[in-house]
Amino acid sequence: MKINKIGFLFLFIIFTACKSSFCSREKKILYTNPDSPARVLKISDKKDSLLLRKPSKDVRKIEKNKDLEQLVKKLYLTMLEENGVGIAAPQIGINRNVFLFYRLDKEEKTVELAINPRIISYSPEFICFQKDGCLSVPDKYGASRRYSWIEVEYIDQNKKKVTHKFLGGSRTEDYTGTIFQHEYDHIQGKLYIDKPCKSN
Ligand SMILES: [Zn+2]
Repeated sequence: MKINKIGFLFLFIIFTACKSSFCSREKKILYTNPDSPARVLKISDKKDSLLLRKPSKDVRKIEKNKDLEQLVKKLYLTMLEENGVGIAAPQIGINRNVFLFYRLDKEEKTVELAINPRIISYSPEFICFQKDGCLSVPDKYGASRRYSWIEVEYIDQNKKKVTHKFLGGSRTEDYTGTIFQHEYDHIQGKLYIDKPCKSN
């Protein structure tokens, strides 16, 4: 099919606009009822599952990015509404490397923002984490295979690049490392049901 120069330029603008900033579909999610929680995508829905299974992209513009700020706000409102201990952007239909997780390792149990996170090292051994659950996999719990510790880096809510070591643990102690692994999986298009292990 032939395409003229103007058409090509138009397509180029559309393509780069969606790649480097938030697309109109994503903006609709962010700014429809901007002060309310978003709908959580469910694996049982065919369209939702396509987005949940799609690997996310890094956020390029960290500073002064109103859309990113609105995404964080939406994630926070949605996590509170759903009583989650973490939530990742793909779960509300935004395929970006952004998630929130509870810092159970801290006494105040603060909510932390992770932008463009990476797992830089991990334990040689695994644990079988009991009763993993996910807002996108309703009415189900199961054991998932996790590293017993991970070392990670990400950009936090202060726009600072930070490095931490988190423990996988169990539900009765600090399991920040497992929450992080669970949310990190989301941005890779993976879910806890993909890594089952035998419950004790
Ligand atoms: Zn989940």
